Amino acid sequence: MRFDILTIFPHIFDSYFQESILRIAQEKQKIEIHVHDIRAYTKNKHKKTDDIPYGGGPGMVMMVQPIYDCLKAIPRLEKPRVIMFDPGGSEYTQVHAKHYGEQYDQIILLCGRYEGFDERVYNLVDERISIGKYVLSGGEIPAMIVTETVTRLLPGVLGHIESTHDETFSGSLDYVEHPQYTRPENFTTESEEQWTVPPVLLSGNHAEIEKWRKEHPKQ
Ligand code: SAH
Repeated sequence: MRFDILTIFPHIFDSYFQESILRIAQEKQKIEIHVHDIRAYTKNKHKKTDDIPYGGGPGMVMMVQPIYDCLKAIPRLEKPRVIMFDPGGSEYTQVHAKHYGEQYDQIILLCGRYEGFDERVYNLVDERISIGKYVLSGGEIPAMIVTETVTRLLPGVLGHIESTHDETFSGSLDYVEHPQYTRPENFTTESEEQWTVPPVLLSGNHAEIEKWRKEHPKQ
């Protein structure tokens, strides 16, 4: 899977993509991530990527030209998908993450800033995606979210240690994973309260454990 991210703040991604699962996925060559600086494609003297809105109103709007040229410069694989981040777009879920990983070999992510994009940028994309009903200052965090959620579902990315089997939203968006416990068996708080692990989990009886897990969803 190849990810191409278009942004005016390319360095935002430097540390995040160099840690943990995304770093390992790149090392194992399961994914490639290319971050493109939209500003490098401006044709005006001051390298401006935004301008005032026609018709008036507050803030600045991202211009179509640098995005058009930046997109044109990105090599296309066989099955690319171009996604624009927009708080008003269709809401991103685990179903999208799975679908993108299965259907495409390249995901091109367009990060907005300011008041968002000139509406004509929409002519260049396949869909508008929102990561939730709140407004961020930019599409960079959404790009990290899509990159990570798609990557961790790709075959061979996660080992046994962090598995996607039977996790929350696997199979259905209503599904929530069972509660988990680890050492110690008994944790004592400052006020001498004892927080214990359900005894069945210590019993070694796998059938009983499975039954308990099914019957005890998270609080
Ligand atoms: N004026 C716009 C908001 C712009 S926020 C409006 O009212 O709809 C600036 C950019 O941040 C957006 O263009 C988008 O790329 C990104 N962004 C902000 N919130 C987002 C969200 N919930 N989901 C996806 N992208 C978001």
